[in-house]
Amino acid sequence: MTNISAARIRNLSRSMKSCPLCHNLNLRASDECYVCGWRGSFEHDAETIRLGIEDLADRAPQLLEVLCVAANARRNTRLPRLLKALFVRIDCRV
Ligand SMILES: [Zn+2]
Repeated sequence: MTNISAARIRNLSRSMKSCPLCHNLNLRASDECYVCGWRGSFEHDAETIRLGIEDLADRAPQLLEVLCVAANARRNTRLPRLLKALFVRIDCRV
């Protein structure tokens, strides 16, 4: 069980999407999954995103914090590439 607030989940949900291949959260602004490189359609279902946020908060809270910072950055087109570079070797599936 995570301790992330419902308000924070709602705010994050607006900026996130879920990869249909690896089920990791990605920024909506990103064209490519930073974990597996998927470049097709992403899942935008609110419940899927909420579950992904709670799961990430439990498994990798530091990564969730990075995504929070990235989600709040406006018009920073370098962030998706930076995230991919930082986490290219991390497999978030446990
Ligand atoms: Zn993926």
